[in-house]
Amino acid sequence: MTSLHETGVTVRAPAKINLHLGVGPVRPDGFHPLATAYQAISLFSTVTATPADDWAVTCTGQVGIDTAGVPLDDTNLALRAAKLLAREHGVDQPVALHLDKGIPVAGGLAGGSADGAAALLACSLLWDLSLPPARLLELAGELGSDVPFGLVGGSASGHGRGELVEPLEDHGRYDWVVLTFDTGMSTPAVYADFDVLHEGVEVPDPEIPPALVAALRAGDARALADAVGNDLQPASLRLRPQLAEPLRAGLDASAYAALVSGSGPTCLFLCGDPDHAASVAAALSPYGRALVCHGPVPGATVL
Ligand code: ATP
Repeated sequence: MTSLHETGVTVRAPAKINLHLGVGPVRPDGFHPLATAYQAISLFSTVTATPADDWAVTCTGQVGIDTAGVPLDDTNLALRAAKLLAREHGVDQPVALHLDKGIPVAGGLAGGSADGAAALLACSLLWDLSLPPARLLELAGELGSDVPFGLVGGSASGHGRGELVEPLEDHGRYDWVVLTFDTGMSTPAVYADFDVLHEGVEVPDPEIPPALVAALRAGDARALADAVGNDLQPASLRLRPQLAEPLRAGLDASAYAALVSGSGPTCLFLCGDPDHAASVAAALSPYGRALVCHGPVPGATVL
């Protein structure tokens, strides 16, 4: 029998959206406490880890995905994940990582974090480390605030910087249009503008709306539409006023809800079923790249 160690291990991890992003008051160290509800959606990155003489990372993009912005050096999150795991668990076996990305790069969909989560799981299996899920989550949190959710998937709450992840009960399937643009936005610039907008205002501690938790539990897309939200959206719209147009166009095309994803510029449109999503996507295509997908989907999974 061929062992995993010869053929390599392939793991697939999903993109994430923020159904709600609650942002708290900035602290002296510049940190904003978050209370967010994540959902994993059906855009995926796959990572294949194969034993090699030296550490290496290569990358391809699935149809329509431009991978020019993906670093192929030590800053690549998948490579950082593999090296962190090796260092922490005394492994002396370099791997070649191949990423096949179906998640738009720098679109606020945590594509790099998905690669990091997939690489952690792939390498832990390749090296037979038999780690408990809690240990992988701990390492994921060291890599970045969205990496733990890449492991957990589904629908989940995120606190702290977003790295303290707890699954949320979800009995629904939600059809989404994800509208991406060629030009990204700087996440630090959006947070800085959030601070400007809230100067002299007491910002409450962030919380996930109870109505959103109830909507997921009931699997009710209409109720979810009333509960989604993003505290960063006013800042994103100030920095990129043109986003107002596709948000309006999506609602005019009968999307249940339209919101900016995370710090933007990617926009999200909640729909009632796949046909509805296809018609909303057609209406949005003049503004950017409209991808039809659904959630929730599982976190990092071995293929
Ligand atoms: P952020 O988490 O910063 O909001 P994002 O979700 O908008 O990121 P990503 O696709 O994760 O978008 O890419 C953000 C940046 O992370 C890229 O511009 C790139 O420089 C860096 N990066 C590091 N590793 C990866 C990777 N494996 N894939 C994509 N980008 C990566």
